[in-house]
Amino acid sequence: MLPEPGRQASRLAHPPQRATMMRMHTAYIGMGANLPSHAGSPEATLARAAVQLESLGQVRHRSSLYSTEPIGFAQQPHFLNTVVALETDHSPRALLDALQAIEVLFGRDRSDGVDNGPRTLDLDILLFDDLIVHEPGLEIPHPRLAERAFVLVPLSEVAPHAIDPQTQKSIGLLLRDLHSSAMSHGGAVVPIHGRFWRAGR
Ligand code: ADP
Ligand code: MG
Repeated sequence: MLPEPGRQASRLAHPPQRATMMRMHTAYIGMGANLPSHAGSPEATLARAAVQLESLGQVRHRSSLYSTEPIGFAQQPHFLNTVVALETDHSPRALLDALQAIEVLFGRDRSDGVDNGPRTLDLDILLFDDLIVHEPGLEIPHPRLAERAFVLVPLSEVAPHAIDPQTQKSIGLLLRDLHSSAMSHGGAVVPIHGRFWRAGR
């Protein structure tokens, strides 16, 4: 059936959808929390923050939730950690800025200056396509990726075959290396069933 002339003209008048012209990227975002925020418990914060990430693209996959032992600064509550795969058209720098704005939205306060200290929300770019970035304030892959079981365990659940572009090793292999190395801090990384967190695709 031929389209009505008027209809065809209006269809042709529309430019191609912007989304089809934008370059999409896959970023893996590490999420952590061990203090309550206005959203509630650390788990409630992570669940709400994951919804907030939808404003930056599409969350394609969420790992399970893990309870993890703090490293470095031990006098603080256990962390909850998880990883999501985010498809986004943001540049790495724009993504970092947006993630830090979401951290602030959930009460992140960096003023105490304690490295590895307690926080309401931590959002890190772990991998961004196969990019390597070394800029002031932005390093991709995340500089401590290979030494943190609380990152590699959830990341290997979501993307075991993703490649670290610096070592050319898969995430699964980095995790095996960590388990068999002295670098491992030995902190437990235990999957838990939360009330709010929804894992999966
Ligand atoms: P961490 O997450 O390592 O515990 P912070 O959250 O306090 O530490 O972040 C410290 C700084 O790390 C931030 O100000 C940010 O500019 C920088 N940074 C560098 N690379 C990244 C990255 N890939 N993802 C998130 N932050 C990063
Ligand atoms: Mg961080």
